[in-house]
Amino acid sequence: MGIPARPPVRMEWMGNLGQMKKHGTRVREVCHAPCRYYRDVDLDAAIAGVGLDFDFWDKHWICPDCGRETIFMCSAGPGTVFRPMLTQ
Ligand SMILES: [Zn+2]
Repeated sequence: MGIPARPPVRMEWMGNLGQMKKHGTRVREVCHAPCRYYRDVDLDAAIAGVGLDFDFWDKHWICPDCGRETIFMCSAGPGTVFRPMLTQ
């Protein structure tokens, strides 16, 4: 008997780009080690590119440094940990 896996809690501030913009959510694109590339995502630029309804859940872009898939993480604000936007 293990501990059942809890589905990730998706609060409104972790929602689509429109919700994230409204809540001032910080979003970061992260590459796994060893390359450790990351960049802060400009929500305004993202909204201009893909629209308010887009979300970063389970999205993977390509790391410009190593070519591996990146993931997205988000934080409710300063001093708050970044959580991975992955459903599994
Ligand atoms: Zn990388």
